[in-house]
Amino acid sequence: MSRKDVIARQREEFIEDEGVIFLDNVSKSYTSGSPALDGVTLHIDRGEFVFIVGDSGSGKSTLIKLLLRELTATSGAVYVMGQNLARIRHRQIPKFRRNLGVVFQDFRLLKDRNVYENVAFAQRVIETPMSEIRRNVPLILSDVGLAGKYKSKTTSLSGGEQQRVALARALINNPSILLADEPTGNLDPKNSWEIMNLLEDINARGTTVVVVTHSKEIVNAMKKRVVTMRKGVIISDEEEGSYIDDED
Ligand code: ADP
Ligand code: MG
Repeated sequence: MSRKDVIARQREEFIEDEGVIFLDNVSKSYTSGSPALDGVTLHIDRGEFVFIVGDSGSGKSTLIKLLLRELTATSGAVYVMGQNLARIRHRQIPKFRRNLGVVFQDFRLLKDRNVYENVAFAQRVIETPMSEIRRNVPLILSDVGLAGKYKSKTTSLSGGEQQRVALARALINNPSILLADEPTGNLDPKNSWEIMNLLEDINARGTTVVVVTHSKEIVNAMKKRVVTMRKGVIISDEEEGSYIDDED
């Protein structure tokens, strides 16, 4: 191995040690105004459960989009699973995203398809053999409590059920990381709790979970790590944290 290779390897090992997610002094500007993220450094270890909280406009969704490689940083570096996302080529992005499951506030299901097809679709995209898809989909639907609904059109489901379909779809390919951007934003408290309990189960089985939320009650009850953002900056990062109101 050449000296250059050794240095590259050492650098990679260093990044691995930084955890499954590492933002190194990351800024993101959309326009010439104040940046959406302004010098954010954040480490998340394998297997962690982290809430990201903060007022609307504080940069939470921007952070999630950077992790998904939907956006690239204006400065600084974003590493996911030891990969510098600025170095990933366009055609490698789909393969990179297989490491990630993602759910959004508005579910984003295929409206003209039933529950089974919505979940199976995620496996078809990665060319999973049909026989495996037929085995995997019922198992994951049963994990999210939807075993009996696989033939239902998603438009006939309640919000809580739709989000559980979205969660099943996010998990079917066994991602290392689950990113959820306000997954309970359209749900009542009961359904919100059900989704959070599922996220906790998923985390207990080893998936790293990052959840953006406005639910003060849930954050305060769950006693997880809480990262609080304000105007593009992390203003607090606490183990067993609580929701910090930004009004005062
Ligand atoms: P949050 O998810 O915390 O509400 P966002 O990351 O969506 O915050 O937005 C952070 C800031 O960046 C806000 O000021 C928002 O208006 C701005 N912003 C977000 N997306 C865009 C965009 N596509 N173009 C221009 N500005 C944007
Ligand atoms: Mg947002």
